[in-house]
Amino acid sequence: MGAHIRRPLPELFPGASFEEGAEWVLHFHCYLLRAAGRTVLVDTGIGGADSPAASWAPVPGRLLGELAAAGHDPADVDAVVLTHLHSDHASGCVSDGAPVFPAARYVVQRAELDWVRGPMREQVVVPLRDRLQIVDGDAGLFPGVRLLHTPGHTPGHQCVEVGDVVMSGDVVLHPVQLADPTVRYLYDEDPEEAVRTRTALVSRARVLAPGHFPTPFVGDSPE
Ligand SMILES: [Zn+2]
Ligand SMILES: [Zn+2]
Repeated sequence: MGAHIRRPLPELFPGASFEEGAEWVLHFHCYLLRAAGRTVLVDTGIGGADSPAASWAPVPGRLLGELAAAGHDPADVDAVVLTHLHSDHASGCVSDGAPVFPAARYVVQRAELDWVRGPMREQVVVPLRDRLQIVDGDAGLFPGVRLLHTPGHTPGHQCVEVGDVVMSGDVVLHPVQLADPTVRYLYDEDPEEAVRTRTALVSRARVLAPGHFPTPFVGDSPE
């Protein structure tokens, strides 16, 4: 995490206890899922060298290389679900002012679009405007794939639920919040709402797939 937003863990997660000198190494996960004959990408990561995340994240990200290694071309992606419009989740949607996934619709909550400002609006949302699928609240995306509106970290944060696995974006940032979902995160937009959302989601999902944990899945192993 870049220097201008990095803080000691006890400041980032007030009230939680950490080992002396513990550091937070932020991982950035995107998830590819195949369901009902569709290919869905959940989040697009930190993006390229010119991304809005360049001021604080280790750009360029590796998403396209990882997709290729898994046998997928960007044109295969039918839908990109953006959990929220922070620069480490949505910047990989756009490169050189054009959508990276040419056949995809980009699924975002209306409350998130109403809220986003600055470079994320200008450099990411505006180039995608003809491709957006705007959702209000919980909704089905494809058979077996459900969107959950999970506000708090940002107003239009959403998760993707498939069976008992939930791709949870930034609802849970650090494992300390699994042990105690009432632990707040400094950069949550609405900390109280985030606590309510986190508490409900942690009890709902058997397996979480968070954005920033060291391992992509936590909980029982997904089948
Ligand atoms: Zn975030
Ligand atoms: Zn994040």
